[in-house]
Amino acid sequence: MLERRLFTADHEMFRDTVRRFIAAEITPHHERWEEQGYVDRELWARAGEAGLLCLTMPEEYGGAGADRLYSTIMIEEAARAGVSGPGFTLHSEIVAPYLLRYGTEEQKKRYLPRFAAGRMIGAIAMTEPGAGSDLQAIRTSARRDGDHYVINGSKTYITNGWNCDLVVVVAKTDPALGAKGTSLILVEAGTEGFRKGKRLKKLGLKAQDTSELFFDDVRVPAANLLGREGEGFVYLMQELPWERLIIAIRSVANAEAAIEWTLDYTRNRKAFGKTVFDFQTTRFKLAELKTEVQVGRVFVDRCIEASLEGRLDPATAAMAKCWCTDMHCRVIDECVQLHGGSGFMLEYPITRAYADARVQRIFGGTNEIMKEVISRTL
Ligand SMILES: Cc1cc2nc3c(=O)[nH]c(=O)nc-3n(C[C@H](O)[C@H](O)[C@H](O)COP(=O)(O)OP(=O)(O)OC[C@H]3O[C@@H](n4cnc5c(N)ncnc54)[C@H](O)[C@@H]3O)c2cc1C
Repeated sequence: MLERRLFTADHEMFRDTVRRFIAAEITPHHERWEEQGYVDRELWARAGEAGLLCLTMPEEYGGAGADRLYSTIMIEEAARAGVSGPGFTLHSEIVAPYLLRYGTEEQKKRYLPRFAAGRMIGAIAMTEPGAGSDLQAIRTSARRDGDHYVINGSKTYITNGWNCDLVVVVAKTDPALGAKGTSLILVEAGTEGFRKGKRLKKLGLKAQDTSELFFDDVRVPAANLLGREGEGFVYLMQELPWERLIIAIRSVANAEAAIEWTLDYTRNRKAFGKTVFDFQTTRFKLAELKTEVQVGRVFVDRCIEASLEGRLDPATAAMAKCWCTDMHCRVIDECVQLHGGSGFMLEYPITRAYADARVQRIFGGTNEIMKEVISRTL
């Protein structure tokens, strides 16, 4: 296999720490969390204590001031272990960076240290019952009223929505201006009029809480505006390449794990007097899958490098998201097949991974939207 060249010895030491944390604190509880539909809050505090949250945030705000290779390791190790419950990536890699990049000093000091300590959980609410891919069509409004904004509307499919303490709400501050009238506003859990709906029952990611959120005349101080009024859409677009690369990183790592699980299974499973692995059809299939994953790995590593240099463009990130998630689903589907009936039983990691993988092609912008983004550069 081509050697990966991204990581230093320090990164690999960190990888060991993450593996140990997952094995001790996450894997033993994951099935229970899948049944209850959310991860215990204590896990967040433990991850905070272990220094595994908000890795790339500066030390002055409680982070580790680390590079995105540390974030990459967190994403890869969770995918490798097949633990999809903790919504750490959204919290640390998506919500916290919005606060850092666009927040006032006061907002950063108020929220980031608590985010890093796992004492506050973050969410971002863009999608609404009537608007997902077409974000410009959102209807949630934030009307200025003196020193306050008054928010009305509803959001759905929000990761960490049920557990969250702070939500970045995407709302129209000037509906007549469309995208240019969109702003980001911070709403804390417990604010009057802000209600969390039910935890949604999902095909996969069963331990991850995904919820509806309702805003009925929610009054928040004008100081809760994140960045400048009317620039919300621009901010959202700027963060997308990294957010999409995260999904691609997860897909490649989970596809690699799926091949390992399948090798293990087929080497032990006997049929017609030999192991399933001994059939040439099995070996050829696994050889094809391994090739696909390796191609994805090299492309994604190159994208990570570009991201570290601040040069990952939207179309390339969209290619990574689209191709790697399609590949991920193809690989997992074939791996399920090679498991026979066991591949349909939830006690096997491949089965849970099959259910978890499907959403990779849907969230973070659907793969059809990725093709829109790519085709604009043709
Ligand atoms: C588990 C999960 C977690 C999520 N977490 C969050 C979160 O934390 N925060 C958040 O805001 N959202 C979240 N989402 C929402 C997610 O981002 C949206 O579901 C996604 O962007 C698609 O939007 P939609 O569901 O409205 O589908 P639609 O936009 O209604 O799409 C339906 C179909 O139409 C296709 N389509 C739409 N427009 C076009 C076009 N222009 N050209 C071609 N085809 C098109 C789509 O590709 C899709 O196949 C989450 C979703 C899930 C399932």
